[in-house]
Amino acid sequence: MAGLLRLRLPGQAAASWRNWAGNQHCSPAVIERPLTEAHLQDIVKKAALSGHKIRAVGSGHSFTAIACTDEILVSLEHLNMVRHIDTANNVITVQAGIELGHLNNRLAKAGLAMTNLGDIVYQSLAGAVSTGTHGTGVGFTGIAGQILGLRLVTSTGEIVDCSPDENPELFRVARVGLGVFGIISEIRLGVEPAFNLHAVEAPRPLAEVLDNWLDDVADNDHYEFFWIPGSDAVMTKRNRRTIDAVNRQPKVKHFVDKIVAENIGFGAMAKLASLKPSLIPKFRKMLIDSIGEADFTDESHRVFASPRWVKFVEMEYSVALEDVPEILRRIDDAVRDAGLDLLFPVEVRAAAGDDIPLSTAFGRASGYIAVHRVKGIEYRPYFELVEAIMDEFDGRPHWGKIHFQTAATLAGRYPEWDIFQQARAKYDPAAMFSNDYVDRVLGTVG
Ligand SMILES: Cc1cc2nc3c(=O)[nH]c(=O)nc-3n(C[C@H](O)[C@H](O)[C@H](O)COP(=O)(O)OP(=O)(O)OC[C@H]3O[C@@H](n4cnc5c(N)ncnc54)[C@H](O)[C@@H]3O)c2cc1C
Repeated sequence: MAGLLRLRLPGQAAASWRNWAGNQHCSPAVIERPLTEAHLQDIVKKAALSGHKIRAVGSGHSFTAIACTDEILVSLEHLNMVRHIDTANNVITVQAGIELGHLNNRLAKAGLAMTNLGDIVYQSLAGAVSTGTHGTGVGFTGIAGQILGLRLVTSTGEIVDCSPDENPELFRVARVGLGVFGIISEIRLGVEPAFNLHAVEAPRPLAEVLDNWLDDVADNDHYEFFWIPGSDAVMTKRNRRTIDAVNRQPKVKHFVDKIVAENIGFGAMAKLASLKPSLIPKFRKMLIDSIGEADFTDESHRVFASPRWVKFVEMEYSVALEDVPEILRRIDDAVRDAGLDLLFPVEVRAAAGDDIPLSTAFGRASGYIAVHRVKGIEYRPYFELVEAIMDEFDGRPHWGKIHFQTAATLAGRYPEWDIFQQARAKYDPAAMFSNDYVDRVLGTVG
């Protein structure tokens, strides 16, 4: 504690930090914002010498307390530069704090694009990689699977490069590392020549969507759907890679669909529903009636991601791809039995398996099922009900989204759990990069 006090001037209050959703808050003794990698290294070395804990934070888009600390919080917001673009080999080297939206714009200018993306681009690249952030498409891994090399400041203050050829054991675990192997300062990312996506959005009945799940996933590069539990209403989205030219939705339609309907209209409904939950059934009917069709072609990064203005909290589980229909039927029954009135759709996606020990897609083609509640509405009963079903299917929770698991319940779901833990004990024996969340979900070091 005496050491902690030295992080602040006498009488100086602790800093304050809050995540995007506003459901996590902490008071770090100090928030550091390094301007260079050498500055970052200096901060880590001083923390090591004084025995303080230190956590990196990206853009705060995790719903869990994964980035929280009451000691030293390091924001990489200024380490956000593009270092090098190798167009001949489709590789970009960037500082780890770069926001995905900024990265996409830089890639587009160079005629390149990320292979796949989630549904927003406000995250930092390091944050997205560290929690196993993914998009949809059974032929594509999450973003961590697109990484070719990482550079970290480790607990000794050393700068260590890792890749399949250099420190491969560190590379293996640190791609989805939850921030416990050190602070990532630079990332080498495999990309590809820019491409367009042909997007088709259409309503379909739930039974048909569930019966055709595996075929639809196989037939479309990027397939996902949104379903309101307790109803038969589904909105499907199919994105296929195309050599066709850009053919955007008329600006007015785009504005009405993406901004007015998905954000302003839904936001207003959500706000009213959180104040008066009895309005939910009426709003749900309005939402179902409003599901429409769209057909357009655009640059990939503009199709993958959309603006998100409505604040919500989310839980997402990865399960074996083929179990998705049965799990959704179970959720539907449980929601109806519990008499839950839900407004926010469930999002269902797919991804390729990978070989990253704590990736939620380790060793299996995966289906992803995400449940949400608007900020301000009690989420626990719904999320616990869904989690109990996921437990029966060996579900793996997204590290950045709400769940109630512990190391004891998670260890058996990851075949390479021990490999991760051995590397953690080797690279951070004093648990300098740990916090309460990682102690809960990974256990204490050693
Ligand atoms: C509106 C919204 C939409 C989302 N959509 C998706 C989606 O489509 N797919 C999906 O999979 N997820 C999605 N997420 C979850 C989100 O992608 C992850 O939680 C992601 O980690 C957030 O990135 P961030 O930069 O905000 O990281 P933070 O939340 O700030 O940090 C996350 C973790 O990364 C670590 N970290 C950050 N920077 C570094 C660094 N430099 N070195 C080491 N560790 C570091 C932190 O310590 C922490 O452990 C969504 C979240 C929101 C709020």
